[in-house]
Amino acid sequence: MIVHDKEFETFISHQSILAKTKELAQRINEDYQGKSPLFIGVLNGVFMFAADLMKEINLPSEISFIKLSSYEDLSSTGKVSELIGLKEDLAGKDIIIVEDIVDTGETMTHLLRKLAELNPSSIEIATLLLKVDVFKKDIDLKYVGFKIPEKFVIGYGLDYNGHGRNLKDIYQIKEQ
Ligand code: 5GP
Repeated sequence: MIVHDKEFETFISHQSILAKTKELAQRINEDYQGKSPLFIGVLNGVFMFAADLMKEINLPSEISFIKLSSYEDLSSTGKVSELIGLKEDLAGKDIIIVEDIVDTGETMTHLLRKLAELNPSSIEIATLLLKVDVFKKDIDLKYVGFKIPEKFVIGYGLDYNGHGRNLKDIYQIKEQ
């Protein structure tokens, strides 16, 4: 499949994504028994994963979304912007950050630092994808869906210059 000027091939099917998402949700349901976590989804890429994950969560819980963009074109710019859109009071809450993908971990490190300043009682991370060879930060990613190689992916919320977010499956770039 061609998106803009690049060719992509199917990488993770919608069915596998849903099965993995259910597994992660079950772990969260067990780990947070008796608690009422606040999920914080990182837009835009997370919208599909967050929706499917939340359908499998059976805890009393809330979800909110923030925006924090550091990515342009095919590679991380390394620049992180401020968070936009967080209105909830995080003090004393159990936070679960929900991300579509962690690459270098730069974005997540920045976000963790920002959220920690708001005095939550705990923060954990759930990410659907982790670029395991690129990730070099000393942060604990408790809930990881798929560990993937260092290749650009789109679909299921993830875009290439704005396109591809609507795709049901996850696609990998053919060559980079
Ligand atoms: P990091 O700060 O961990 O290097 O980058 C994380 C952000 O970069 C993600 O939230 C995502 O927006 C973007 N990103 C990283 N790898 C990919 C990828 O393969 N495809 C897409 N579409 N975005 C990516």
